[in-house]
Amino acid sequence: MQKLTNRQNPSNVLESRLKDKLELIDQIRADAVNDIESLTETFQHMTLVTESVQQNYQALLAQNQLLKSTLLSIIDECECGQENRCDRCHRILQILAGNNPEQKLNPVLKYKTILTQIRKLG
Ligand SMILES: [Zn+2]
Repeated sequence: MQKLTNRQNPSNVLESRLKDKLELIDQIRADAVNDIESLTETFQHMTLVTESVQQNYQALLAQNQLLKSTLLSIIDECECGQENRCDRCHRILQILAGNNPEQKLNPVLKYKTILTQIRKLG
C-alpha cells in the first residue's frame, strides 16, 4: 500500500533519482581508488626494475674495473719493455684504449634501449 503511494508522489521520484545519482558517484569514486591502487602497484614494480638495472650496472662497472686492472697488471708483469711491447701487450693496450668499436658499441646500445623502455613505461 505504501509502495503504491510512493510511486505516485513526485517528491519520492526526486528522492529516488538522487539516491541513484549518489550511488553512481560512489561507484565512480570506488573506480578511481582502484585505478590509483593499480598505478601504485605499477610504480612499485618500476622501482624494483630500476633498482635491479642499477645493481646490474654497478656490478658490471666493478667487473669492468677488475678486468682493466688485471689486464694492466699482465702488461706490467710482461717481460717486454715499455718501448718495445710484444703482440699480446699491444693488443691489450688497444682494447684498453677503446680501439675496438664493434665490441664497445653493443653494450652501450643495449643499455640505451633498456633505459628508453623504462622511460616509456614510467
Ligand atoms: Zn708484453
